[in-house]
Amino acid sequence: MPSGIAIFGGSFDPVHIGHLFIVEEARDVLDIEQVFFVPAYQPPHKNEAPQASAEARLAMLELALQGRPGCSVLDWEIYRGGVSYTIETVERALNEFPRAAKPKLIIGDDLCADFGSWEQAERLLDLVELVIVTRGGSVESDTIKEYHLIDNSPLPVSSSDIRRRIAEGRSYRDLVPQAVYNYIEENGLYRSL
Ligand code: ATP
Repeated sequence: MPSGIAIFGGSFDPVHIGHLFIVEEARDVLDIEQVFFVPAYQPPHKNEAPQASAEARLAMLELALQGRPGCSVLDWEIYRGGVSYTIETVERALNEFPRAAKPKLIIGDDLCADFGSWEQAERLLDLVELVIVTRGGSVESDTIKEYHLIDNSPLPVSSSDIRRRIAEGRSYRDLVPQAVYNYIEENGLYRSL
């Protein structure tokens, strides 16, 4: 049987427990052997560039995924540079993993409303099985027709909230894996907004 792979893209600025938790929740109910976390160099649908460098975001992801079987980082978008389009990543995955089943693409429901504006959105939906996890919003989209909806517990955690907390000197230790916390502290990341 072909193995199930999933692509999970984002800024991961920084990676947090919300990211890790939804991946586990999706794997509980879907046949996903390997999840590839794909940090964007420059996400197309965010107004500002990520605050931490691409290298730092990549390093934090590597730390977060240590000892998690079935989860790994793909650095393709970082090394491609420029604006990171998911369609290009999916096309490359189809080439590099030709024996895998149709790849799954994991997104949070906060991305659904604008999905139609993603580069080659219709073609992208043809190439993947879309997996939507809830962040407490809804799946409202003119473009998205078929999808797996994960009945996950929404954790109210976001990278932007974590960055704000760090800049304001508030607690955030338990919102990221321990190794990521240590990396942020050692490198003085996110101390200003
Ligand atoms: P920011 O607050 O900077 O916008 P973020 O927390 O949304 O960042 P991203 O790296 O942009 O993190 O998100 C990557 C993917 O993870 C997106 O599909 C997003 O919807 C999803 N995601 C992020 N946090 C959660 C969460 N707490 N629960 C469910 N999905 C999440």
